[in-house]
Amino acid sequence: MSTFTVLVLFHAGAVAAPFFFTWENLIAAGVVYWMAVSWGIGLGYHRLHTHRGYRVPKWIEYFFALCATLALEGGPIYWVSAHRCHHQHSDTDLDPHTPRHGGFWAHMGWIIFGKTLHNNTELAHRYAPDLLKDRFYRVLSKWHWVPLVVVGLVAWILGGFGMMLWVVPLRVVVGLHTTWLVNSATHMWGSRRFETRDDSTNLWWVALMTFGEGWHNNHHANPVSARHGIAWYEFDIGYIQIRILELLGIAKAVYAPSLRELEQAKEPSDALEAAA
Ligand SMILES: [Zn+2]
Ligand SMILES: [Zn+2]
Repeated sequence: MSTFTVLVLFHAGAVAAPFFFTWENLIAAGVVYWMAVSWGIGLGYHRLHTHRGYRVPKWIEYFFALCATLALEGGPIYWVSAHRCHHQHSDTDLDPHTPRHGGFWAHMGWIIFGKTLHNNTELAHRYAPDLLKDRFYRVLSKWHWVPLVVVGLVAWILGGFGMMLWVVPLRVVVGLHTTWLVNSATHMWGSRRFETRDDSTNLWWVALMTFGEGWHNNHHANPVSARHGIAWYEFDIGYIQIRILELLGIAKAVYAPSLRELEQAKEPSDALEAAA
């Protein structure tokens, strides 16, 4: 099934879901949204698997990757390759998703029409050799849609067809669009604290929807930092959760320079340090 067909079906399911509203369905969708978008994409794929801003025991790393597959953004090797490529070539012709090629392109066009990096072994070898070495990530990348099917079946059995619509299509579609806003909106609108060589911006409403990922100019200036909201008013619930894991002794080697440390540093690093 093509990506386009899958997206049409999921959007149709998302439109149908409100007709099955119950508080149980809303809460179930909210819990899985948090797991997929915050633990999976934010803490896992992005701040851990791609940029290695902190360390956790292997089983937690795997658990975050499993959560991330529930967002229907592909397996870890694909996601990490595409994102490291984005950092290396931000807002140039080699960027997989730059708004310089159009806002719609950066938001979702690249997923549908782009030479998305699915099964592109050459790019995977270039950008994600660390994950390729790990059998778990190879298997999960191949079968990345299986956890979502399992969660959908469990929701259907426990809460009926309506709950399945809320937990799978509606929740996935909302999660896709909020994540895509980081590629589109926070490379177009918002403010820039750092003069990075890309167009990245900080945008509070995208940060709110993505658990802190919308402080995207801070992130491009210091990609490895586990902390994206660096001013006191930049609410970053992703980093708060990493801090909690650190205080519990679960997260180690958390790299999270403060605003003062960053301002003292002469040139924020914009290199692809994580892929080195
Ligand atoms: Zn970016
Ligand atoms: Zn990044």
